[in-house]
Amino acid sequence: MMVQGALGVLAIFPFAVCRILQGEWVMVILDVLIVSGIVSLGIYGRNGENFKTVSTLFTLMYTSGMLAVVLIKGPDMLFWAYPTAIGGYFMVRLKVAISISIFSAVAISALVYESLSGIQLSGFIVTYTLVCLFSYFFAARMKQDKRRLAEQATIDPLTGANNRRALDDAIESRVSLYSRRAAPVSIVIIDIDYFKRINDEYGHAVGDLFLRRFVEFLNSVVRKSEVLFRFGGEEFVLLAEGSLEEANNLSEQIRGAFENTRLIPDHPVTMSIGVAELGKNEAAREWMKRADDALYLAKSLGRNRVCLAPPSDSSVEQTINASEASV
Ligand code: GH3
Ligand code: MG
Ligand code: MG
Repeated sequence: MMVQGALGVLAIFPFAVCRILQGEWVMVILDVLIVSGIVSLGIYGRNGENFKTVSTLFTLMYTSGMLAVVLIKGPDMLFWAYPTAIGGYFMVRLKVAISISIFSAVAISALVYESLSGIQLSGFIVTYTLVCLFSYFFAARMKQDKRRLAEQATIDPLTGANNRRALDDAIESRVSLYSRRAAPVSIVIIDIDYFKRINDEYGHAVGDLFLRRFVEFLNSVVRKSEVLFRFGGEEFVLLAEGSLEEANNLSEQIRGAFENTRLIPDHPVTMSIGVAELGKNEAAREWMKRADDALYLAKSLGRNRVCLAPPSDSSVEQTINASEASV
């Protein structure tokens, strides 16, 4: 949007200066309106907030500016229709861009059909349609690639769960949200017990299939609000909205359900779980480390159990300070 805005200003500004020199005041006013519209929308939308509204207004403003120029100056200005149409396909949803292009083609034809011969008008319609079609296919392809890349960057290809990178981002953003709205949130780390034995006994392919089924199992027992991530080989993380006690209940429910599930017939498998609730002023890394330590404890106490991390040092310090202050 910023690039299009800057190019729009650079393209229109020299014409505005020429028109001042030539005394074409209606066109000067129109150019000034378009340039100031671009600048205002650019400033309003600079943080990327309200992007949909700003980009739609941007496209509508360009399009109405182009139609006004054709209305005032006639068919000599037809070539402005092409960049305006192309810009739309990269700014707004494709359906909206198609609607705007069709509307523009009809409006332009109505404005210039008396001044153009039939062959000139058909030439315009054919070339305008081709430009719109090329733009449509390029923009559609670009959006598809963008979606695919975003998916590749955040989804684990084996299990379809969110990957480690997505987990790091989610934890960071949850920690920063906590500083604004201290709603309790807990990390639940789940590690399959003796998973290596499955690989050793049945082969790596069965191990892979087990991991896929394991994710299906987890998705079937957790709520939609609890987001699942694959943390590493056979370790998974749930980001659970709720206190340590609520996360403990959820973990016990998952652990108990898995104990009675057979992802491989006649081969019982269990899981160990570590849980940590985010403490006040706690950093993402510390939070994760406490959950990992709790998991380690669950393993060392004999597996197939849930262990809870003690409150973070920063929370304890704050609680002590608060009680000292109240004394
Ligand atoms: P513990 O109870 O201590 O967690 O024992 P474990 O065997 O589950 O843990 P360990 O860390 O000893 O072994 C994990 C195994 O997971 C080793 C590795 O080959 C296997 N693994 C990691 N990623 C994958 C994967 O994507 N597919 C398969 N099939 N195996 C994997
Ligand atoms: Mg394991
Ligand atoms: Mg492990």
